Amino acid sequence: MFPMTEMFMVLAGFLLGLSCLGGFYLFCIPVGIICLVLGWLNRPKNGGGGGLSLSKPITERIEKFVRPQPAGTRFVSDNEPQEYNEPSSALSRRKVWEEVENDVEDCLYEALQLIKKLMPDVYTAAIFFPSKLPSHFELKSFCSESSGVVPKATLGTNHGLVGQLIKKDAVRILEGDLQGGRTLYYYNDDPPVRSIVAVPIIQNQKTRGCVVIDSLKPNAFNGETVSLLKGLAKLVGTTAFMSYMKALNFIKKDQFDILYRYQQNFFRNMTVKDIYTHIASYVKTSIPYDRLMILALDRRDEGVGHVVVAEGLDADFFINQEFCLNDQGILVLSLLKNIPIERNIPVGSETLVRVKKQEKQNDELRSMMVVPVVTDPDANKSELVIAIESRQPARYTEHEMELLKHIASAAGFAFLRTRAFEEKQELASRDSLTGLINHRTFHEKLRIEKLRSDRQSTSIGLMMTDIDKFKNINDTYGHPAGDVVIKAISRILQKEVRGEIDVVARYGGEEFVVMLVDTSEQGLRETAERIRKAVETREFDIERAEPIRVTISIGTYILKPDFRDTRKALEFADQALYKAKQSGRNRVIEYT
Ligand code: GH3
Ligand code: MG
Ligand code: MG
Repeated sequence: MFPMTEMFMVLAGFLLGLSCLGGFYLFCIPVGIICLVLGWLNRPKNGGGGGLSLSKPITERIEKFVRPQPAGTRFVSDNEPQEYNEPSSALSRRKVWEEVENDVEDCLYEALQLIKKLMPDVYTAAIFFPSKLPSHFELKSFCSESSGVVPKATLGTNHGLVGQLIKKDAVRILEGDLQGGRTLYYYNDDPPVRSIVAVPIIQNQKTRGCVVIDSLKPNAFNGETVSLLKGLAKLVGTTAFMSYMKALNFIKKDQFDILYRYQQNFFRNMTVKDIYTHIASYVKTSIPYDRLMILALDRRDEGVGHVVVAEGLDADFFINQEFCLNDQGILVLSLLKNIPIERNIPVGSETLVRVKKQEKQNDELRSMMVVPVVTDPDANKSELVIAIESRQPARYTEHEMELLKHIASAAGFAFLRTRAFEEKQELASRDSLTGLINHRTFHEKLRIEKLRSDRQSTSIGLMMTDIDKFKNINDTYGHPAGDVVIKAISRILQKEVRGEIDVVARYGGEEFVVMLVDTSEQGLRETAERIRKAVETREFDIERAEPIRVTISIGTYILKPDFRDTRKALEFADQALYKAKQSGRNRVIEYT
């Protein structure tokens, strides 16, 4: 009998050792555990053979969960809320996770059953895994005679004997008799436990949990118990670790595939707006979140921007919010300082401003990852920032931060290229003297605005203006002086209308056209009159002794939802302008 035991034990140690080194674990673990159990059953103390037969289910189980299969990404428990976006990869990550979690649970259950079978004196056998809280263990699975075991009991380093094992580099094996009065924190009824053995589960030099057995009998355990438990801890650790690693690799591969696909897309032609939606759809398919936001500066060096993408919790509140670089929100800071931020938001922590003060708060969110998109690598400046948040604590892994940084850098490159292209186009569509858009672009904008205002049943105010007797100015003071006047009048027009909403264009030589969005007849009349007066009262400095004065004539037309022809509408405004000229100049005439 003795050589049999030796042989099995040596073989078990060898195979399990080999499996830990990473080789052939598919084969080594099941065979290793069989040897371990056979060795135990054949131990000399029992007089050989033993009454116990090899537990068949565990070998089947172990074979099952070391077989390659998709697995999940990390520890999640049932009571965690579903995230806003369930990433739409071929196999939902949550499903993948659930599968591996079930398999690990089955394995732990079998291991605990085996302990109970081999050691009848055991009162409770328990397996702890790392908790979500750093430096804590959580009761993962147990089998007990007691009804007082706390399910999912969480232990820290100051939680008794078992808590000691959490300490860094803990390799100690606790064993011995308890003299009473020692609290075991996984019970809520303090049973009179007299013996305990706890063995750490160590993987890659890190403590990843522990296996604990206790008994109500004094001196219930001995060296052999410890050896068996050590073997079991190793096995359980390796199996769980391998399963989780496989899950992680599965997820990683999947996420990287998606990343590369999106990176490639960034080389296609797109607009700046496409880039926002592209980033959002990438994040949506590959990284789970409860809220996603993208902030973008409107234009470089003006320090003002908007939330251009918001999805998930309070998205309606945040979308299109304006911010400036002085706002103290954490997303704005990340953009301004060009630094990625990863944060956990513990329960009851101070209000964390995302964009700016007086914003809608949501105290459910627990994890945050913010990555700026570098758009000017030389100046190390960003104009965009991507932020994702989750209701789950410590949600994001280093790997996910890397993914987000990858997509940000691809997006930054695309952004740079696209914006340069758009600026060039923009230049071609603008008049070089006044910086206003030209005739062609105005028509385009009017067409688009008309579609929008029809949907909202609002009217557009049109204004055609022409400088009175402008030939005289050119003739008297010279063409450059005329240019000064044209420029100055273009500024007055821009100043008198709503900056981001209304549109002013240089229609021809000294003619301008104005589009007032969502305007009533009266609003149009008042604005036109205000503009006329502003020009009339202005003194134009043309670098002569005396400043000069000029006037303009204005023709207006109100473009109502039921009227479709925008070109005709402009003609009507022009006809009204003609009437204004006819009837004496320096006046506003409405088309009738
Ligand atoms: P009216 O009151 O009838 O409009 O008289 P007007 O003299 O302004 O007549 P009209 O509008 O026909 O004259 C336009 C003049 O504007 C002719 C052209 O020399 C001048 N002009 C057009 N573009 C420019 C420009 O870019 N710079 C300068 N300095 N003059 C321009
Ligand atoms: Mg003219
Ligand atoms: Mg004129």
